[in-house]
Amino acid sequence: MEASSTKSSPLLNKHIPIVTRSVKGKFRNFKTAVMLVAYSVYFLLPWLPWTRNSAADQAVMFDLGTRRFFIFDLIVYPQDIFWLAMLLFIAAALLFFTTGLIGRAWCGYFCFQTLWSDLFIWIEHRLQGERPARLRLQKQPWNAEKIAKVGGSHALMVLISFWTAVTFAAYFSYAPDFVRALFMGEAASAGYITVLVLTITTYFAGGVAREHICTMACPYARFQGVMYEADTLAVSYDKRRGEGTAGRALPVAGLKTRDERQASGHGDCIDCGFCVQVCPTGIDIRDGLQYQCISCGLCIDACNNIMDSVGYPRGLIRYDSERNLASDAPHKPRLEWRRFKVWGYALALIVASGLLFYNIGTRSDTEVSVQQVRQPLFVMLSDGSFRNRYQIHIVNKTEHDEVYTILVRGISPESLDLGNIPEIRVRAGKSLTINAKVDLSQEVAARTSNFEFVIQPSGQNTEPLLLEANFNSKRDF
Ligand code: SF4
Ligand code: SF4
Repeated sequence: MEASSTKSSPLLNKHIPIVTRSVKGKFRNFKTAVMLVAYSVYFLLPWLPWTRNSAADQAVMFDLGTRRFFIFDLIVYPQDIFWLAMLLFIAAALLFFTTGLIGRAWCGYFCFQTLWSDLFIWIEHRLQGERPARLRLQKQPWNAEKIAKVGGSHALMVLISFWTAVTFAAYFSYAPDFVRALFMGEAASAGYITVLVLTITTYFAGGVAREHICTMACPYARFQGVMYEADTLAVSYDKRRGEGTAGRALPVAGLKTRDERQASGHGDCIDCGFCVQVCPTGIDIRDGLQYQCISCGLCIDACNNIMDSVGYPRGLIRYDSERNLASDAPHKPRLEWRRFKVWGYALALIVASGLLFYNIGTRSDTEVSVQQVRQPLFVMLSDGSFRNRYQIHIVNKTEHDEVYTILVRGISPESLDLGNIPEIRVRAGKSLTINAKVDLSQEVAARTSNFEFVIQPSGQNTEPLLLEANFNSKRDF
């Protein structure tokens, strides 16, 4: 008994490559539109010029050398790490929000894995033909035709993967210079390693592993279940309508019209298998919601086309909720947004986005901080006065060099000693640390526990920045 069950359930099933059929319909069109927009943005953005004073004229550039990210007119510094944290939070909240409403919309239409797999499948379709031709090609022995078609497809995929990798690397340096240096053999080794690694991974993920990335590597497929609710819209097969009481059946003689099928208890599914043939993950949606389903909607298009051809109403496979499908009187599928979870995610999204935009909008062009030197905390000078030392850190976040004046408030101006610095000039995008000494007589030190540094940028209409500082003297002991 045991032996036979082991035999019939091998630990590893033989991998059968998925050869998808192409399909026409509104979800296919939407996917194509998203793909065109996403590719245009990704591949063209590094080449978009943008006038800058202090860096290369590139609209979007992540300059690791100067530790600045340029996003059009916005310059992001390492000190703006809060923005990254907020962005990650917003991305997570958006994912939960959309998944709660319409399932895995991200996976089906926007995920990089989907976009690149889709493009590579399209290449196979163009070079090797429609599904039956590709299946034939798979079975035939290797000959000139097979080598040309299969080899040509993969060569094109490698080429696209290579340009994908080059484009990615071009976001991290001035694109025209980087590409020229890359082909002249003059780029930094990090550039070549990045391009090599990304070419291999892109080709492997989109051209070879494909659905296995979604079903085996991506953690999102595994925990999506916790985000689904009974009211979540998901790609679903209307089992009641498709199976009837006698199950699905081919449209053979006597079972062609809906009336004939209903009279014999059969449902609307004519068991053509088109919904399975177009599925990029190779599943049968008629078996119910599965973690492998990326919600791409292609099976909806396929089934709708079949329904049109046999003259039955569309929507046997559709976006619908579990609750509606199970109800005695199903209504037209609709977004059920009046739910506690959806409102919670929406609120989190609004608050986080508001905070992020407020923070970006109100960021100062200069960032300053002060740290008191604590070793020693103070020294007593020969005339009995006390000296405290400070390090003032200034970050110039503008695109031009800036000159700063440092003053004190709450103590006399003469007590501040900045050394022999003719002027405090900080280059665009750079930072500078100034060593400052503050000397107070015994009497003043006795009644002074804190004061303020005033940092005044030289630019017109710039507000001074105030930094509170402690003053320590012997009286503290
Ligand atoms: S079952 Fe349908 S929606 Fe799900 S992945 Fe397959 S084709 Fe896409
Ligand atoms: S495409 Fe529609 S009719 Fe054809 S097998 Fe799938 S569910 Fe049935």
